[in-house]
Amino acid sequence: MSELIDGERLWGRLMAMAEIGATAAGGSNRQALSDDDQAGRDLFLGWVTAAGCTVDTDAVGNLFATRAGTDPDARPVVLGSHLDTQPTGGRFDGVYGVLGGLEVIESLNDRAVATKAPIRVAVWTNEEGSRFPVSMMGSAVWAGALDLEVARALTDVDGIAVGAELDRLGWAGALPFGHDLGAYLELHIEQGPVLEDSGSEIGIVTGVQGFRWMTLAVSGEPAHAGPTPMHLRRDPSRAVAEILTGLYEISDRYAPEARVTPAQFVSLPQSPNTVPAEIRFSIDFRNPDGELLDQMENRVRSLIASAAGANGCEFELRLDNVSPPVVFDAGCVAAVDTAAAESGLTSERMVSGAGHDACNVARHNPAAMIFIPCRDGISHNELESIEPEAAAAGVEVLYRSALSLANG
Ligand SMILES: [Zn+2]
Repeated sequence: MSELIDGERLWGRLMAMAEIGATAAGGSNRQALSDDDQAGRDLFLGWVTAAGCTVDTDAVGNLFATRAGTDPDARPVVLGSHLDTQPTGGRFDGVYGVLGGLEVIESLNDRAVATKAPIRVAVWTNEEGSRFPVSMMGSAVWAGALDLEVARALTDVDGIAVGAELDRLGWAGALPFGHDLGAYLELHIEQGPVLEDSGSEIGIVTGVQGFRWMTLAVSGEPAHAGPTPMHLRRDPSRAVAEILTGLYEISDRYAPEARVTPAQFVSLPQSPNTVPAEIRFSIDFRNPDGELLDQMENRVRSLIASAAGANGCEFELRLDNVSPPVVFDAGCVAAVDTAAAESGLTSERMVSGAGHDACNVARHNPAAMIFIPCRDGISHNELESIEPEAAAAGVEVLYRSALSLANG
């Protein structure tokens, strides 16, 4: 266990937070702007207040707890993530980054260490986007990527709006959306299997994959499965077979970072003895490099056109969603790298496959992320699990990184 931070205090608080909205299967259900989300924040507020922090919120309810620095002009080093969960969420997604930030402040207090810049813990509102369907909502509003009024107008399935809940809970504060951070670090469970597979204790996250979602419909001519010879068919299944093979060739060509995921297949009509009239499916493809993502899209488009044409089929291709890659700040990444080495931990540089609040913060401020392994790579699942030693190790890296950035 780390000597710099108190791993038992950290673990006790993770378990205490998990009791709020605890589910029968061992997870947590604290959906954004619910009474349980409020109860989670109240628990957190008790801890940060006792630790001597001052607390502010902005108009979208993002919560900031600040430990003062010695230089009144120094820009804060912010450590953050989220306390809201999926409806059948785990105990660590988001929560770990928030309570890890708090543990850094507690450990600085324990050792009576002053920092030049303030250390601030951020709790972003509605990261999950499950109750109100925009993920990373609070940080997007903060970063100016989402209009406050658009966010306030989002409703849940019962028609209750974000704005009404912010007002009911009294979360909307007066803190300006100031983009004046010295650095932002987000500590998070990996939510994937890479670290567990490689055996590395720490993931030094250099950026976040960009992605594009497409919907493809390939249409041919419906025909009787018996009398129609193969060479006289306009068979969308055959075109789709070529497209699928080609998609995996594209993922191989751009390996190991590229991801290609065809899914949501629908064939019409639903008949076993008719050549389909149409096959529709989605294609999700990802790459951490924007230029390579463009190349992948060009290859996907020409693959589809040639496979459809070769089989006498027509196609319609729609681009549904675009998310550009994020490249984190080299100075923040280097600080994490050094901190991991100083902690004596094995580490590797990696790219996040999932979006995080750090993506929004990185629009205006130097940012990076730290990952620790989670069991079987499982997340967004009540079975999400991490080891107490791994949790402490990640916070030690956060502590060292924050200290160097706050005094740098
Ligand atoms: Zn998260």
